[in-house]
Amino acid sequence: MVGEQEFLHTQFQNYYKNARIESVPDIHTREFGIGEFGKKIVKRHLSFSNQNEFNAFLETVVPFYISYSTALYQYPGKFPMEAKKYVAADLVYEFDAGDMPRADQLMKFFWKCSECQESGKGMRKACTNCGGKTSVQKWITKEILEETKKETFRLLAVLENELGIREGISINFSGNAGYHVHVRNSTIRELSPEARIEIVDYLSGMNLMPESHGFYAEGKRIHAPDTQTSVGWNKRIVEKLLELLEKENVEELATYGHAPVTKVKNFLKNKDAHITTITEQKMLPPLPGKSSEQFWFSLIERIVEQQAIKLDRQVSTDIKKILRVPDTIHGSTGLPAQTVDRESLKSYNPLTEAVVLPADESVGVFIDSAPQCIVGGQRFGPYDQSHEELPLFAAVYLVARGAAVLDGKT
Ligand SMILES: [Zn+2]
Repeated sequence: MVGEQEFLHTQFQNYYKNARIESVPDIHTREFGIGEFGKKIVKRHLSFSNQNEFNAFLETVVPFYISYSTALYQYPGKFPMEAKKYVAADLVYEFDAGDMPRADQLMKFFWKCSECQESGKGMRKACTNCGGKTSVQKWITKEILEETKKETFRLLAVLENELGIREGISINFSGNAGYHVHVRNSTIRELSPEARIEIVDYLSGMNLMPESHGFYAEGKRIHAPDTQTSVGWNKRIVEKLLELLEKENVEELATYGHAPVTKVKNFLKNKDAHITTITEQKMLPPLPGKSSEQFWFSLIERIVEQQAIKLDRQVSTDIKKILRVPDTIHGSTGLPAQTVDRESLKSYNPLTEAVVLPADESVGVFIDSAPQCIVGGQRFGPYDQSHEELPLFAAVYLVARGAAVLDGKT
């Protein structure tokens, strides 16, 4: 892969020659780590005293991946970690396609045998030809990127509306399969590691106890929080319960409340009275029979599961973590980890917009196998053992992903 590596290096260098990356605030306090072809981190504990030095480094060294510490240190380049003298840390959240609940349905998977080179669609662990070990490639789709964006929006809503965090929020595409959210402000930076874990628990609904959120049984009565004054999870759960009743969502009520459909249908005949019980008396109306408590608490459990934000827990709680520098190139795709304005996020489509390499040059490649993919707003593939002349950015995408080699080499 030497030729390919050199090819990518040249393209990435051309980008860094013309780009000015100033996405890391307080740059002199950050630790950096870099990766090379196929390895995301090969070296850590790098530091730069200013933006000029950093940009000169990008242009000359051309790292395939470059990440920075969410933490700010007094001596970021020192090692071991304690010698860096921790000062503070930003909050970061990562949403990756692979972590989404519907990743298996919405992503495309290709397997390849490492012994006989046989390949095919799907997630096979053993080769259909020789039984050998396979490696599985995941390909993103518009749909899975939309899912990760939805989670990003859910996070922003909770940060802003429930936790009152509005200052210093910066969002970027990850350069591959998701989004990163950076929160940088003085209040956040002072948070202890325990407080960071607490926030992540809150966001992800981890170990959420309904009793702590206004839902508790007292004899045969089940209390609910005040719909007028409740906030946060209390509000979200009670509103969702009301919505299920309002919309007479028999299927969901029966399935997740573990109750027979006929019973739920009968129960809904007094829908309006039930809604009043919740909103006026702050009680969950009893379901006939013994299963009332189980019914409501199962529903609450399901609502929490649905509303839990699907973030990468480790990224948000580990203050030693380093994360891709926004606007730098992701070495597995050749796409930039593009910063996106909060206002543009809704209409942002990385498959169309996250391209920084030229479209007016073309390169001959041999593509082993690849599903249809969209890069730079254009559709490519599907390919199977195919020689193609592609625009530079698309050739880089396939070569960086390891799905193609430069033509003339096979
Ligand atoms: Zn095989």
